[in-house]
Amino acid sequence: MDFLTQPITIAEWTAEVRRSGGSVGFVPTMGALHEGHLDLLHRAKAVHAKVGCSIFVNPLQFSDPNDLKHYPRQLERDRALLEKAGCDVLFAPEKEAIFADFRPTVYALGGLDAHWEGPSRPGHFQGVVNVVERLFHYVRPNEAFFGEKDRQQLALLRYIARSERWPERVTGCPTVRATDGLALSSRNARLNPEERKQAAVLHRALKAAAALAFREPVEKARQAGLDAIATEASVVVDYFGIADHETLEPLTTWGERDKAVALVAAQVGPVRLIDNVTLQR
Ligand code: AMP
Repeated sequence: MDFLTQPITIAEWTAEVRRSGGSVGFVPTMGALHEGHLDLLHRAKAVHAKVGCSIFVNPLQFSDPNDLKHYPRQLERDRALLEKAGCDVLFAPEKEAIFADFRPTVYALGGLDAHWEGPSRPGHFQGVVNVVERLFHYVRPNEAFFGEKDRQQLALLRYIARSERWPERVTGCPTVRATDGLALSSRNARLNPEERKQAAVLHRALKAAAALAFREPVEKARQAGLDAIATEASVVVDYFGIADHETLEPLTTWGERDKAVALVAAQVGPVRLIDNVTLQR
């Protein structure tokens, strides 16, 4: 696996793959890799001649300086994991390289940031999009792979990719979970054993809502989720909501749609966790 830190070198790497007629799949991450990230990589490998992964802890997407400070960083371990998983190139730029010729842009996000993570983390999505733009600018992948775990981010990047003519394809991949249902996340490493157990309530709550979806009123399904979370007194809900599958607008009725999404964010011990599931009619 190549290990590159300079934007110019990753640009040349991609150009070389293209010259030899190959396509590039790309998995952007913030590191502290887990099976969720590696699943994205395997999906990318299944369709592209070469796959690249980036590790960059994007300071622009953290609204809480404490979260940024404590975000797990383990580059050597990540590098070994990627090598073993068959990644072709790891792009791990320094902040200075990414922001060298950076001009912050305010992107029109089509209202996709109006709810959920948007109001809870002001500036977060503009930070995500600005840095993903930098990564795409240098890596120039044919296809980029993102997790459904960050559903709103995925929806937003898809939207922007269409308007900015970014990579040909932005592909969403299913959430990889631990056996108790907890969505794998780099932040889970900061939970103590007790908190780790409590965190599984998020997925139980999503399943409780899913069990009532399209059969009971939206509010009843939402309340079932909230009731489930309330069984863990130390888990503090930020939001638990049910939204349109495409626009992520909160729903009050199911209407004619045959898909929706339940989303949750909650504080568990020192970390704020998010998760979601698709609801099917
Ligand atoms: P992060 O390093 O947390 O920024 O995540 C990098 C990419 O991995 C994003 O596209 C995430 O949505 C995705 N991802 C994170 N956790 C999971 C998971 N449990 N299952 C699938 N994809 C995930």
